[in-house]
Amino acid sequence: MKEVNEMLKRERIIEILKETGVLQDGHFLLSSGRHAGKYLQCAQVLQYPSYASELAEGIARLWSDQKIDVVIGPAIGGIVVSYAVGQALGCRAIFAERREGRMTLRRNFKLNPAERVLIVEDVVTTGGSVQEVINLLEEERINVIGISSIIDRSGGKASFNYPFKPLLTLNIESYPADDCPLCKKGIPFTKPGSR
Ligand SMILES: [Zn+2]
Repeated sequence: MKEVNEMLKRERIIEILKETGVLQDGHFLLSSGRHAGKYLQCAQVLQYPSYASELAEGIARLWSDQKIDVVIGPAIGGIVVSYAVGQALGCRAIFAERREGRMTLRRNFKLNPAERVLIVEDVVTTGGSVQEVINLLEEERINVIGISSIIDRSGGKASFNYPFKPLLTLNIESYPADDCPLCKKGIPFTKPGSR
């Protein structure tokens, strides 16, 4: 475990997310059909190892009062960030993945009940994938210490039976297409990922 420094500040986290194109301002048509003034693509920041490390160290600091033996992330979003947090904590990092719709440990990854496990995800939207990892670990009687994500965008809806410490909580408002303040201003919208 590295030395405990001061917490990574919200302003710095947002700066990194804007600089790397994770957090975009504009007028977007979401896959749900709703419109929004912000768009989030967390994978963008993880293509830069130095930024990924900085965020991961921020997550590691949130757990500096705990001994963590293993970090686990749900594939695919959680793989890189859990690896980076494992590096920051100086412990193992593995990932769980779905097989036939069921979250499992493959590739001969193993946990033993004596190990203290931290679950790490990139973005928590509904918390579904994290809950699947929790279920998997509970079935194996693994000691879950808590959950972290770079971003919690659930609007407070995601909650778990373990401590949840996101690095950043974001509320991204969205609007019905026929009642969107950005449309009313005449701003053209774009569909993210379509280019
Ligand atoms: Zn609109």
